[in-house]
Amino acid sequence: MQIFTTDVLCIGAGLAGERVAVEAAMSGFETICLSLVPPRRSHSSAAQGGMQAALGNAIMGDGDSPDVHFADTVKGSDWGCDQEVARIFADTAPIVMREVAHWGVPWNRVVAGTHTYYKGGKPFEAEEKKENHGLIHARAFGGTAKWRTCYTADGTGRSVLNTLDTKCLQYGVNIHDRMQAEALIHDGVNCLGCVARCLRTGELVAYFAKATLIATGGYGRIYRATTNAVICDGGGQICALDTGLVPMGNPEAIQFHPTGTVPTDILVTEGCRGDGGTLLDVNEYRFMPDYEPEKAELASRDVVSRRMSEHMAKGLGVKSPYGDHLWLDIRHLGVKHITTKLREVYDICTNFLGVNPIHDLIPVRPTHHYSMGGIRTNADGAAYGLTGLFSAGESACWDMHGFNRLGGNSLAETVVAGRHIGKKVVEFLQGHTVSFNTACLNDAKAKVEERIKDLETGRKGKESVIKIRNEMQDIMMEYVGIFRDGKELQTAVDKLEELYARSQKMCLQGSEPGFNPELSLALRVPGMIKLAQCTAYGALMRTESRGAHTRRDFPERNDKDWLNRTLAYWKEGDSMPTLKYEEASPYYELPPGERGYGGGKIIPNELPEEKLRVPAKKATAKKSAKSS
Ligand SMILES: Cc1cc2nc3c(=O)[nH]c(=O)nc-3n(C[C@H](O)[C@H](O)[C@H](O)COP(=O)(O)OP(=O)(O)OC[C@H]3O[C@@H](n4cnc5c(N)ncnc54)[C@H](O)[C@@H]3O)c2cc1C
Repeated sequence: MQIFTTDVLCIGAGLAGERVAVEAAMSGFETICLSLVPPRRSHSSAAQGGMQAALGNAIMGDGDSPDVHFADTVKGSDWGCDQEVARIFADTAPIVMREVAHWGVPWNRVVAGTHTYYKGGKPFEAEEKKENHGLIHARAFGGTAKWRTCYTADGTGRSVLNTLDTKCLQYGVNIHDRMQAEALIHDGVNCLGCVARCLRTGELVAYFAKATLIATGGYGRIYRATTNAVICDGGGQICALDTGLVPMGNPEAIQFHPTGTVPTDILVTEGCRGDGGTLLDVNEYRFMPDYEPEKAELASRDVVSRRMSEHMAKGLGVKSPYGDHLWLDIRHLGVKHITTKLREVYDICTNFLGVNPIHDLIPVRPTHHYSMGGIRTNADGAAYGLTGLFSAGESACWDMHGFNRLGGNSLAETVVAGRHIGKKVVEFLQGHTVSFNTACLNDAKAKVEERIKDLETGRKGKESVIKIRNEMQDIMMEYVGIFRDGKELQTAVDKLEELYARSQKMCLQGSEPGFNPELSLALRVPGMIKLAQCTAYGALMRTESRGAHTRRDFPERNDKDWLNRTLAYWKEGDSMPTLKYEEASPYYELPPGERGYGGGKIIPNELPEEKLRVPAKKATAKKSAKSS
């Protein structure tokens, strides 16, 4: 077995993984990134709309500041986020946007003079300031008080990822692509790296590392209809959960995006609505202002998705062979805007839907999109449960998103958290020594080998991998969707428990060594069911509605009993997760209150005075960050 040793192992080479890798490599630490695909094909490249940072250069962002961004983020999270982390994020985001500009990201820029912009389908004129000419521009996104989303047309993820990948090359980060992490190597206290499977040869490879980062993105493929690519299967979260020591934070917090296209589920960016696109029903009537008079299409995603579903439930959706949908209308934005600032949307619509958005309406409906939950870390990005293990990006629950993340805050998180956590990894490594224990490696390797043998020989049973995966996806679609209730969630939990037992008896149809997608999937499926079960069980136990977690049987946001975060552990040999809870935030710089959109009743919590104070050390740090 080939064994690599390194200072830093980044499992994942999307934006978050590569940003941490660059930080470590810039400090002189040897760094390896693993990826299922060539890094530039990581899912970050699919992100279209942009990244939020309070630069305040655009006229519609005038008066913006990290304080306003912080408040929008906390409200967006429905007070479910960690406010210490949301503050770090909002304060650092402007620095990071300028940093990546310096590294080569071709941000759209402010052009001085009068421009026609759109809001809710209506044009208006605004004068961009002369002194801001050439500075980073921003567009509107949902749930924000200001235009704050920095963008490169609608290919933001791709251009930032290309830039960071070039940076990795510059600093000598070693990229091992087509490498699938299968298990962490650990001694119960320290994480020592991972065992991975080469997707070209099928060989197992060991990586010993002083610090290991999981940055494997989301796990949207536990749902059948999702905007996520097939590689978003939760590989990293599964490795963490399998240790029995590292919990998933808030797995029940799942986001549905209002504009998944029908029937492909490919996303068209929130930038469409940010730039002035509207949602129409079967009568081509613009319905969102009836529900959300102030924010309309630009309320937060959880709210818009719920309103769209409610509207379709009233029989006002458009019937199609693929189920009901609504329309997204961007026709009024005109040819130039659509073929420049929304050109990926144009390509997606023409190539995959046969719809020309310059002349035609785009069929859309809410589709699974994002996991607010993930590997629970502290504010430094250090995972709970194992020293030397970190997580960043969508795979993590660093927790700036709580129960609903704002559009544009996730892509920004990858590079902001990547920079912050990268620095913490460097601090951790300074003076850190570790002895690489081969017994731990042998243990991890033996478990993976055993699983492969079970699958190849069918010695435990003959269950089909594809059938089990499909059943899991259908359960999640049917019972753990936008609207939830106790009875349906209990059904999901029961069915997933049974499915998990069956997944232990899977058998491969083919037995090709090396490149074998069936085996790659088979190695993931039981873990994906665990993630699905953490989601369903977490949702069942959370008897309130908060952000994207909407319980018909518990419609209030219950701050009295549920101002907390779920921690889901999966102990070895168990058939169900064990849930624990911790406070949502160490303190509440912004005390719990109304979001200003979405409605709903709140059961208040009388927080003690000290919980409403920012600790002195953090307040000083905040002041100096602002003056720098
Ligand atoms: C269609 C779409 C559009 C979006 N648009 C926006 C937007 O405009 N603004 C915004 O803020 N957010 C957006 N998002 C969300 C945002 O893009 C993602 O949350 C973010 O890019 C995730 O980055 P990441 O680095 O955490 O993970 P990813 O970019 O998904 O990278 C994961 C990496 O992990 C690797 N990996 C996975 N499993 C394994 C394994 N087992 N072993 C080894 N390597 C592994 C992959 O190969 C990849 O390199 C969008 C999401 C989608 C799906």
